[in-house]
Amino acid sequence: MTEQHVAVSSPAPLTFPYDAPQSKAELVDISPEIKWLRMPMPYALDHVNIYLLQVGGGWLIIDTGLDSTEAREIWEEVFSGPLRGEKVVGVYCTHYHVDHLGLAGYLTERWRVPLFTTYEEYFTLRGWPDLVTVPWQHAEFFQRAGFPQERLQETLVMFQFFPEISPMPPSFIRLQEGSILPIGKDWRVIIGRGHSPEHALLFSGDRGVLISGDQLLPTITTNVSVSVMNPEDDPLSHWLVSLDRLAEIPDEVLVLPGHGLPFRGARKRVAELQSHHQRRFQVIRDACFDRELSAYELVQVMYPAPLSDFDLQLALGECLAHVRYQIASGGLTLRLDESGVNRYRTV
Ligand SMILES: [Zn+2]
Repeated sequence: MTEQHVAVSSPAPLTFPYDAPQSKAELVDISPEIKWLRMPMPYALDHVNIYLLQVGGGWLIIDTGLDSTEAREIWEEVFSGPLRGEKVVGVYCTHYHVDHLGLAGYLTERWRVPLFTTYEEYFTLRGWPDLVTVPWQHAEFFQRAGFPQERLQETLVMFQFFPEISPMPPSFIRLQEGSILPIGKDWRVIIGRGHSPEHALLFSGDRGVLISGDQLLPTITTNVSVSVMNPEDDPLSHWLVSLDRLAEIPDEVLVLPGHGLPFRGARKRVAELQSHHQRRFQVIRDACFDRELSAYELVQVMYPAPLSDFDLQLALGECLAHVRYQIASGGLTLRLDESGVNRYRTV
């Protein structure tokens, strides 16, 4: 274990006690009963972290990677290499995003073991529409945002993620706030919201370990977005409540995140994220102080550099999350203009 990774730019630095795995199918020992696999992804965010917990009778896989030939091959290398002779007894998914749940069907079928996840994560994915055309409700969402029609079709590609998901298992074991894992009784579920509907973190007070999924990441800020599926939502209010809860996690707890390196300093990281959102609120209030802006115009203010289609969607969702929070709390007003675009102004 080394302590050389320290984020020196932060006034209250986090510590990173583990180096990243050097090769694809390498399992890093976090402890004798917790292993870490870093699964590559073909995106700007180039990996997702997977953890394996030794529980009664074998190993519980926490998150899976998205479904790709490479990811399946890496899993087979793990099973025939470092886990040779061992059994997998379950698959636990923190939330429904494809990098976390994409291979749940494949792995539960391969080992004939249950999927553990929450009701809202399971059914959000099961209910996701296979978008081929843009339904009028989604077109209206983008029109209200002042989004350029010519970029709509390409940007919606990001919602067509079925090729990256193996067929979902037809049943699952439901996790809820406070659930004790039936096959690993020292681990308790904490529900987080805002990034996804019912995100299941896993905490062991005895071990001082929190498996945080995407709900607490060390270096990147988690996407919190209003989506076309739920245009009147206020996900940032849920997110900030969840952050308040995570602020109770002591700094000495080892956080095992969905992306980036394991770290200590949960409270410090929560404080950084809280001030990040306050800064975002201020940027929006300043921009809308003496003029009415659409969400798309606000995206240009908040993210001045050119954005890829994928990043543009994330940025729009984030912008709307910050806008809707401030409308709900009375900081912004909304006016639907004559061309069908929502315009925001600071109160
Ligand atoms: Zn996610």
